[in-house]
Amino acid sequence: MSASPRIAIIGAGMAGLACARALQDAGLRPVIFDKGRGPGGRLATRRIDSSPAFDHGAQYVTARGAAFRATLAAAIEVGAAARWRPATAAGIDPSTEDWITGIPGMSALAKPLAAGLDLNIACEVTAAEREAAGWRVRTAGLAAGECFDLLVSTVPAPQARRLFGAERDIAEALDGVTMAPCWALMLVLASPVTGVPDVLQGSSATLSWLARNSSKPGRDAAKECWIAHAAPDWSSSHLELEREPVAALLVDAAQRMLGDARPRVEQAIAHRWRYARTVKPLGQPCLASRDGTLFLGGDWTQGARVESAFDSGRAIAQAIINGRWKR
Ligand SMILES: Cc1cc2nc3c(=O)[nH]c(=O)nc-3n(C[C@H](O)[C@H](O)[C@H](O)COP(=O)(O)OP(=O)(O)OC[C@H]3O[C@@H](n4cnc5c(N)ncnc54)[C@H](O)[C@@H]3O)c2cc1C
Repeated sequence: MSASPRIAIIGAGMAGLACARALQDAGLRPVIFDKGRGPGGRLATRRIDSSPAFDHGAQYVTARGAAFRATLAAAIEVGAAARWRPATAAGIDPSTEDWITGIPGMSALAKPLAAGLDLNIACEVTAAEREAAGWRVRTAGLAAGECFDLLVSTVPAPQARRLFGAERDIAEALDGVTMAPCWALMLVLASPVTGVPDVLQGSSATLSWLARNSSKPGRDAAKECWIAHAAPDWSSSHLELEREPVAALLVDAAQRMLGDARPRVEQAIAHRWRYARTVKPLGQPCLASRDGTLFLGGDWTQGARVESAFDSGRAIAQAIINGRWKR
């Protein structure tokens, strides 16, 4: 195998980007494939018609380790992130840990990491097959595929299970990981809600999170935009419903949580995250095949936070840089 392996990475969420960045900084040149419309994965921002952008995935990030703290400090330095200080209900105190959001949306946190990478967006990997020379990666646009020495997957564990079910050890380890879904609601209100905090959390069986998206730094505060996340049990039991009835149920729950305020709803759109948060993690930063040519990671390895994804991606890069991949 050459000293400089050809490396493919599936997924341009935080794990895939952190892995690619570390590999590229070490002189390697990975090729990244992501089926989404841009980098970021669940660090997601969406615009509805003429409304301001919504963060319908991760709401904010926190940093407990030095490496992620440094990455966030660099994003703040270039204006891609800032601290969010919402007015909160009693019992939630973000001042104990800085809540950092991307600017103008959460997906902006991915952009500095993605700069200069060989990124193939809107490119779904449909199959990954072992060959004598490495891994053949097939995509929707290139059925014949392309061959790589090393393959890194950073997709959620249940999706990795579908791609790598033929790898017995890997499949067994993935079977031990569980992830929960989340229905998210993007809500535009006709007038400002007064007398309620910017963040309401955990006081409803339907909603686990309700926050004023427009209270985040760098957002258009002229529009009153809220984000609601359904509780894990509620999301599971309503998982296969259509978006419209789910939106109606979540609007009702959000209005009840807002109490007397209840302004008119201008727009309400629901988004289903089938694999939103890790419930039972793997318990180690990444998985590797016995021959060291396949690596799997993502937030599901060690937690349910963006930083878990970052740490996992970097752990994979380190294993590759250390040369453990050599056969
Ligand atoms: C509703 C919600 C709220 C959250 N709130 C927070 C929060 O406040 N704070 C926090 O720290 N974390 C939060 N999280 C969790 C956080 O978003 C994740 O931990 C983190 O973003 C996961 O990063 P990742 O790279 O592991 O996976 P992902 O971001 O899921 O990236 C995986 C990528 O793989 C791509 N992909 C999948 N299959 C294929 C394929 N076959 N071919 C090509 N590409 C593929 C996807 O398009 C995606 O871009 C939240 C998540 C959700 C859904």
